[in-house]
Amino acid sequence: MLDDFSSEEMGSKIKEYGITAPDTKNPLSDPYPFNLMFQTSIGPSGVSPGFMRPETAQGIFVNFKDLYYYNGNKLPFAAAQIGQAFRNEISPRQGLLRVREFTLAEIEHFVDPQDKSHRKFPEVANLEFLMFPRELQVSGQSAKKMVLGEAVSKGTINNETLGYFIGRVYIFLTSLGIDKERFAGSVSNLANEMAHYAADCWDAEIECSYGWIECVGIADRSAYDLRAHMVRPWMKKKLWKMKANLESKGEVEFNVCTLGKNVTITNKMVTIKKEKKKEHQRVFTPSVIEPSFGIGRIIYCLYEHSFYTRQSKGGDEQLNVFRFPPLVAPIKCTVFPLVQNQQYEEVAAQIVKSLAAAGISHKIDTTGTSIGKRYARTDELGVPFAITVDSENSVTVRERDSKQQIRVNVNEVSSVIKEVTDGQSTWADVQWRYPSHSSASADE
Ligand code: AMP
Repeated sequence: MLDDFSSEEMGSKIKEYGITAPDTKNPLSDPYPFNLMFQTSIGPSGVSPGFMRPETAQGIFVNFKDLYYYNGNKLPFAAAQIGQAFRNEISPRQGLLRVREFTLAEIEHFVDPQDKSHRKFPEVANLEFLMFPRELQVSGQSAKKMVLGEAVSKGTINNETLGYFIGRVYIFLTSLGIDKERFAGSVSNLANEMAHYAADCWDAEIECSYGWIECVGIADRSAYDLRAHMVRPWMKKKLWKMKANLESKGEVEFNVCTLGKNVTITNKMVTIKKEKKKEHQRVFTPSVIEPSFGIGRIIYCLYEHSFYTRQSKGGDEQLNVFRFPPLVAPIKCTVFPLVQNQQYEEVAAQIVKSLAAAGISHKIDTTGTSIGKRYARTDELGVPFAITVDSENSVTVRERDSKQQIRVNVNEVSSVIKEVTDGQSTWADVQWRYPSHSSASADE
């Protein structure tokens, strides 16, 4: 609940529980607000104060008019920006997790406040992952698995567009190699925690050795708009039912979720009617949904989640391996001439040339160390594939995690690597098409 306290409430809890400084046991001062923005001075005289941006979004908002024009004066549309953000954090710590200067990547997706449906929402509606909505948080329960489509239709997530981005963030992070079981969508709109401009705000949290950390914030940055709420189909149904009850009984019970209780509404208080309105011009402020990705935190979690220790067959040695998915591995493949001779090195050079032409990042290892040692080196770097040149016509391609190998013709090998690293085919697909190569001893 701490995040939800005002500074006065926090101060009184510190006194109530007798909380002191952990190291010195000295008493703590009363909590006070401070400016998270970095102040600097602009110009030669140094008298004009300026502030470093705490997020990158400002540039997009300032350019809204032009961006709107480039998009044919139509909503919805989106703009994205990546850059450095600066925050005067009280205590930077934990490596990349809390720093004063960090890389932030933000999308601003502008929508009509009265229509926050999303054309592609059905594509993510069936995703199921850990969610931590407000009710579970305030009642002290743990996160539980929920289906995204249901969370939106029940109103747990404010609207389809927000839900769509939560789903896309889940797909993005898990395809990078983040463990699906250690991802949670968590609401961050317990009254005080949510920014003043937000209607609903969720965080993509990832569990790492420091606990659960917020890696992406997904905010609906539009002040709450009841009309936008009303156009949702389930809300409409509720309304017509309410209208019928008001007419027959003269009053209805209405649950106000923010009060946590029912109130009685009489037919003198409200009128519900359907009317057609012709509008020639509607003036409105667009709503904006903003996924905001902290790159350092994502990369840190990616390293933790893809790291594992592999025991050698005899169990006497262990190797640290990064299991990066082929699509995101920084280096896609290594090329090893099996022995240092001119023919093999020429074939290797030819392969390297075609890998470069296909835009595949690679590394060539012509050192004379044993092939097993070279495999270990490339596995430690998280390179998903290794090509060993052991003849002039065909080569072996080895996959990092299974250590299985196939034989591929020299002139086909770069296109095979491209297929499996672009995500067009899986390793299992190509394994089925090419003969396997057994040299179980190489790794050992
Ligand atoms: P926020 O606008 O506070 O939701 O921050 C957006 C994202 O930036 C968060 O989800 C974090 O991934 C990242 N972030 C925020 N503060 C820091 C920080 N001090 N160091 C590193 N990343 C941060």
